Amino acid sequence: MTIATINPATGETIKTFEALSDREIEEKLATAQTAFESYRRIPFAQKAKWMNATAEVLEKDKQRFGNIITQEMGKTLFSAIAEVEKCALVCRYYADNAEKFLADVPAETDASSSFVRYQPLGVILAVMPWNFPFWQVFRFAAPALMAGNVGILKHASNVPQCALNIEEIFLEAGIPDGAFQTLLVSADKVAKIIADDRVKAATLTGSEFAGASLAENAGKQIKKTVLELGGSDPFIVMESADLETAVRTATTARTMNNGQSCIAAKRFILAEAIADEFEQRLTESFKALRVGDPMDPETDIGPLATPDIQNDLDQLVQTCIQKGSNVLVGGSAWRDRPGNFYPPTILKDNPPGSPAYDEEFFGPVALVFRVSGIDEAIALANNSPFGLGASAWTANSDQRDRFINELEAGAVFINGLVKSDPRLPFGGIKRSGYGRELSIQGIHEFVNIKTVWVK
Ligand code: NAP
Repeated sequence: MTIATINPATGETIKTFEALSDREIEEKLATAQTAFESYRRIPFAQKAKWMNATAEVLEKDKQRFGNIITQEMGKTLFSAIAEVEKCALVCRYYADNAEKFLADVPAETDASSSFVRYQPLGVILAVMPWNFPFWQVFRFAAPALMAGNVGILKHASNVPQCALNIEEIFLEAGIPDGAFQTLLVSADKVAKIIADDRVKAATLTGSEFAGASLAENAGKQIKKTVLELGGSDPFIVMESADLETAVRTATTARTMNNGQSCIAAKRFILAEAIADEFEQRLTESFKALRVGDPMDPETDIGPLATPDIQNDLDQLVQTCIQKGSNVLVGGSAWRDRPGNFYPPTILKDNPPGSPAYDEEFFGPVALVFRVSGIDEAIALANNSPFGLGASAWTANSDQRDRFINELEAGAVFINGLVKSDPRLPFGGIKRSGYGRELSIQGIHEFVNIKTVWVK
């Protein structure tokens, strides 16, 4: 894949970049290893100062970074700036909490003193996607760096300017040279990088295919991985739900980030009693959304990130229609203009065996299903290869408890939008991946949990 900035709203190639040579990759790895030797000894207070300074750089230049994000991957400028602000939040969160999260944990044993000590592992490779090109990186980097690891980033090939700017942000904040480096490389270099002795572990956010490939290569080297992969989150609405809030949230949940979020609600599972009304209101709400130039503050939905994403999504939609799905709104890619635009779409009457059941729709396409009651709702929600997030809407406490206990997902949100929050762990089960980011669990992924026993 060419490493380039190609404006998804126009198709125009803005800038192309040379991939690093093997020699340059070797230099970066050597720099990372050297940096680790001293960085691992830096006290928390100093690392926290740098992490807070990183937050300040992000906030000071959020407009500029927002513009770069929008130009490279097409989300609305408003949401791009909000993404940069959220990165500042995660930096401050780990600046404030890392020392506490990584403090020694005493254990009573037959020793005079025994405890757990958390220590950094070394160079960690992060392979990241374009859909939240700043957030995905910072939610890895803030805990990893606060734990005393150093990071190397292989970012998606369509967001090179984001990738380079992130390295510069850390440098501007004062974080030592080599503690965080961007490697402009294509995906086929990842296997060699993970095989390098200096690289101790890896995390990948992206597709199942890429995740499986990284995990296979890391497994051969007995190296730990964290995988944050795709999802097809259910959004379940029961009779007692507050429909107005549910419809408004459903619209946001399916269309934010132009529909390209792993934790977007993708399958809308409706109790029969409210299904007609919910579908009608959701259709009206989708029709009111404005699709267009992501730089325009009036725009709700910008273009999809690449022509491939647009084609893949359209193919899934057309297959569903051929198999019997009915279209409430939208239904095909806009081909009559430049840019990778896809209108907000709702498909109902989706037959079993169609992609609506087991594929991830990465764009603003809502798949609607009807169920007779909670048993069927939970069964349908769990009938998916994925298990990332789930949102369930009900005023009934028995139903709420069943959703919490029985939904197969890394997160269950009751009467709310599934979202990431630095204070809560984030990750999936099943084919959505393993391991957790954020919160205390996130910072414990890339440390040696060392048992100490002293007599
Ligand atoms: P992708 O193709 O898997 O790309 C993600 C990253 O992996 C890119 O840096 C890509 O590099 C790299 N890559 C691709 N093939 C690889 C391979 N064989 N070995 C190593 N690295 C490889 O993913 P995408 O389709 O762009 O991103 C969307 C996917 O990410 C969706 O499935 C979405 O649900 C998921 N996602 C998950 C989360 C989560 O937290 N669970 C968050 C956001 C997105 P190139 O760009 O150079 O190919």
